[in-house]
Amino acid sequence: MSEERRAAPSSSRAPVGGGRVATGGVHISAAEPQRAPHRARKRFGQNFLHDHSVVARIVDAIDPRPGQAIVEIGPGRAALTGILIQRAGQIRAIEIDRDLAAALRERFSAGELTLIEADALKLNWCDIASAPLRIVGNLPYNISTPLLFALLPIAERVIDQHFMLQKEVVDRMVAAPGSKTYGRLSVMLQFRYRLIKLFDVPRGAFTPAPQVTSSLVRMQPRAVSELPEIDANSFARVVASAFGQRRKTLRNALSPLLGADHIAAAGVDPKARAETLSVQNFVDLTRQLGAAKTI
Ligand code: SAM
Repeated sequence: MSEERRAAPSSSRAPVGGGRVATGGVHISAAEPQRAPHRARKRFGQNFLHDHSVVARIVDAIDPRPGQAIVEIGPGRAALTGILIQRAGQIRAIEIDRDLAAALRERFSAGELTLIEADALKLNWCDIASAPLRIVGNLPYNISTPLLFALLPIAERVIDQHFMLQKEVVDRMVAAPGSKTYGRLSVMLQFRYRLIKLFDVPRGAFTPAPQVTSSLVRMQPRAVSELPEIDANSFARVVASAFGQRRKTLRNALSPLLGADHIAAAGVDPKARAETLSVQNFVDLTRQLGAAKTI
């Protein structure tokens, strides 16, 4: 390990990536500009938060407390990380960008930040989720949907997730049946989590500014006792097939899995389209999949 990596100075040192940084509303000037300024990398979906009032609003919504197992995905230049550490004492974070990871190690002590230099999509999340987690992040937009699916299997070990995402993605997540944006993402996530859209964040709060407005969403996993006893893989198959061909009726879209009689037995009109079905309808169709197999 390099000298630089071994060093564990305190969080009052130079901000990550140079420039000025907000730590609980206090702006600290870069006293030790040791490295070339970090240039935002598009391939890592880097849009860094610079608006301190937005940062404060996000952290207030998260309300981190000492002793909680907080994991930040993509700490970047530490806009959120600094305040999360101030409030919680210590956190873990996952960062893919080696330059940003090195700067984070310089700025925060090992006691404040446990940094996992990795791709959050490839991480074995079960290894991390030994204690109930609070997961947070201004997510890289290019991987946000696969990441939401990658976190589904550990929902049982999660207290909550607060994510900044493209507004359009959050609107799809919370959409109600019958709306244009209601789809596979809405059903899969609403089945497992209570979802609350908290607020929108304008493009100007980021550097560089993204193309679109962002939104903060809170995701609280439903208690296992609340969940219907169905096979998760079968549910995922039914939902994916139903929305695979949105314009088709369920009778056609689900034909490889369920006949019209089984769809009707679930209390669903075989001539209906997927976007009109409630999450409970999909649960009932999944139960029919079990019935269809055994006959
Ligand atoms: N949290 C910072 C902020 O709010 O300013 C940075 C947010 S920026 C939108 C996304 C961050 O996620 C960047 O630091 C980027 O390097 C990191 N990132 C991108 N892809 C990642 C991945 N697959 N795994 C872990 N981190 C990733």
